[in-house]
Amino acid sequence: MTNESEKIILTRRDLHRIPEEGLQEYETSRYILERVKKISKSWINYRVQETAVAVFFEGKNKSKRTIGWRADIDGLPITEETGDSYASVHPGWMHACGHDVHTAIALELLDYFSKIQPADNLLILFQPAEENECGGQRIYNNHLLAGWEPTEIYALHCNPSLPTGTVSTRSGVLFASACELTVTFEGTSGHAAMPQNSADLIVAAADFIQQTQQIISRKKDPLEPAVISYGVITGGDVYNILPGKVSLKGTIRSLNEETKEKLETNLKKSAASIEVFHDCKITLDFNYRGYLPVINNEELTHKFINYIKHRTDIAFEIAKPTLAGEDFGFLSNIFPGMMFWLGVNSPYGLHHPKFKPDEEALMIGFEICAGFLQERLNEE
Ligand SMILES: [Zn+2]
Ligand SMILES: [Zn+2]
Repeated sequence: MTNESEKIILTRRDLHRIPEEGLQEYETSRYILERVKKISKSWINYRVQETAVAVFFEGKNKSKRTIGWRADIDGLPITEETGDSYASVHPGWMHACGHDVHTAIALELLDYFSKIQPADNLLILFQPAEENECGGQRIYNNHLLAGWEPTEIYALHCNPSLPTGTVSTRSGVLFASACELTVTFEGTSGHAAMPQNSADLIVAAADFIQQTQQIISRKKDPLEPAVISYGVITGGDVYNILPGKVSLKGTIRSLNEETKEKLETNLKKSAASIEVFHDCKITLDFNYRGYLPVINNEELTHKFINYIKHRTDIAFEIAKPTLAGEDFGFLSNIFPGMMFWLGVNSPYGLHHPKFKPDEEALMIGFEICAGFLQERLNEE
């Protein structure tokens, strides 16, 4: 093992021990800052905003081009079950989405690019709250990037089902838009033995859930992927009282605007018909926040695929789009962007308590990013 690959593995393990909630990544942010402060060059500046850290490398050419790299730094509310010696020391929290891997690679890029001043500007962004609060949108709206706006931006995500040494991406949509849906049913509560005198909101909610799945199968083009899943249902306290309030919480995923609108319209129609039939009031709250679909810029994706194809040590696959969400969708909607999957060959998937990326993928990921960014930073 080379010194460098040992260093990146140790960095990742340091980060792996301290997973934190989105916007509360104080220890992680301090760790990043310590590393940033170690590189002191007149052409490197940094900014801190809450737990976010942005590092700007001024290019030699005083160019207007700024190549951006984004890493996300937050963990997940999952109790780790890997049994590793460097497992999380924060009870109930785990880096189960590989953001420790993403951050370790970005820190290695920071060291690498601080050695020789690049031709164009480089922005390395450590972004909070990818999982819960759309950190990308937040830092953008709070002007963390003012004057440092990238002219193109890149990111990667660990992929447990790809072998180590394989990367994958596609031009166009890679991740879905994600919308949180809250459905609230309100009506007259009453005796469970006399349902005719009240609204049975539990039956109304059951009807709504059934119709939701019919929207997916009957009300949109079957060739356009989409999912509506409910993760929470609440209502009632006792066996024999029909409750006055029931609520559902779920998520809506789709790959394009047209499908998204179709789903929303049909959910509203379904709610209106159930209101009439069940004598209740239904409120739908759609919260899209900044989880826009990740749409890879065609030109940048071609450049990346060309770069990868010249590397005989890396295998490449064209990716399929996924209905998972990624808040890189926000930044890549503002700036031309491209994201790719890095194979980490884990027997357990993302968000699983035993998710365990192959650490060999760290150095591979770093080398791909360093090589590709170097090429982009020096393009005539
Ligand atoms: Zn995740
Ligand atoms: Zn993630």
